[in-house]
Amino acid sequence: MSDTSKQLSVPTIGVVSLGCPKALVDSERIMTQLRSEGYQFTGTHNDADVVIVNTCGFLDSAKEESLAAIGKAMKDNGRVIVTGCMGAEPEQITAKYPNIMAVTGPQQYEDVVNAVHDAVPPVSDPFIDLIPEGGLKLTPRHYAYLKISEGCNNRCTFCIIPKLRGDLVSRPIHHVMFEAEKLVSAGVKEILLISQDTSAYGIDTKYAEYPWKGERRKTKFYDLCKAMGELGIWTRLHYVYPYPHVDDVIPLMADGHILPYLDIPFQHASPKVLKAMKRPGNQEKVLERIKNWRNICPDLTIRSTFIVGFPGETEDDFEYLLEWMQEAQIDRAGCFKYENVAGAPSRDLEGHVDEEVKQERWERFMEIQRQISEAKQQAKIGKTLDVIIDEVDGEGGADARSKADAPEIDGKVLLRDVPKHVKAGDIIRATIEDADDYDLFGVAAL
Ligand code: SF4
Repeated sequence: MSDTSKQLSVPTIGVVSLGCPKALVDSERIMTQLRSEGYQFTGTHNDADVVIVNTCGFLDSAKEESLAAIGKAMKDNGRVIVTGCMGAEPEQITAKYPNIMAVTGPQQYEDVVNAVHDAVPPVSDPFIDLIPEGGLKLTPRHYAYLKISEGCNNRCTFCIIPKLRGDLVSRPIHHVMFEAEKLVSAGVKEILLISQDTSAYGIDTKYAEYPWKGERRKTKFYDLCKAMGELGIWTRLHYVYPYPHVDDVIPLMADGHILPYLDIPFQHASPKVLKAMKRPGNQEKVLERIKNWRNICPDLTIRSTFIVGFPGETEDDFEYLLEWMQEAQIDRAGCFKYENVAGAPSRDLEGHVDEEVKQERWERFMEIQRQISEAKQQAKIGKTLDVIIDEVDGEGGADARSKADAPEIDGKVLLRDVPKHVKAGDIIRATIEDADDYDLFGVAAL
């Protein structure tokens, strides 16, 4: 066999990644492993030897999207391996698509890789075995999601994640920091820490200690935030529950160690609804704590998600939530109408709310949130902020984000008059000239 024919036989994989950032990290791990074994990737199903579909099974609507993606891959290619959350219930997939090559569950990286080996064996070649430092990223090069744990010890009644992904398993702190350093040396400027319950990090390990950079570090939320702050990049915290020890990291935000940004999925404010949801974290006195956090760190941005129309939610509960929102002044909020997820204990609760009522509450919630966001955005006009460049358009314009904006879920800072030498991943100063409800408009202030 000639060298040319060998090059032509490079095994090629198509990847479809659905769902949340945690699923994206799973896809990246699978791809990094396969790339290190000589596989290459294609964006089209037709060119692939086999297609991997990483599914999301959180909500019924996500399951439908996953089944549609599997259907498309089957139609276009016919050789399909399914993994991810929906893989925890394989019969749902095989009933519809009996010719699927393999179905594996969430985090079963080895099983997916083995299924790929069976479908199309690896070809070893020193030229194609090279892998970029930091692994393969599906996000742009300058930011990356870093998963610190798998699973969850909570049992929120609307959620089937613990059933799908099991109890909390934290990665040892030196492993997380090793991966973070690799990402930084590969050019990443912003790391988003993710998990199901970020502030519970390390509880399962009893806060095991390991050496990193000449010091003993605990596998613990505070120690991780402190160590990340030593890398000199932007660190953003997602999926934090308001356990008391969250107060300890606010000074790290005020001192600029990590970004003054907290993504806390509060889901509701009414004590009765929170109890029915079995939410973790001491939700009492949260308003008082938010005030204290903002006293310590005035630039703090709080992002959250909420569910309206949870079973048993009355008009009084909902109005309590709206008043709480006004008082808490949550900077950014997503809102979902309660969905009756198959297998979730909340299905069996009494007092399910009519769809029209859910819709009406959702609209009222979003209007309050829009007003809060608009006022907060207007207050930024005239300020000069640090922004990270996501994309330049080559004509002096750029999409950027401030410290208050997480990629994909928050607003943008749209810039004009950006100097030619500025590129994606650069952090520059920008003066804000205008604002709408969610985005800012500004000019580079170099
Ligand atoms: S904290 Fe609750 S909502 Fe989040 S993954 Fe755990 S059980 Fe699900």
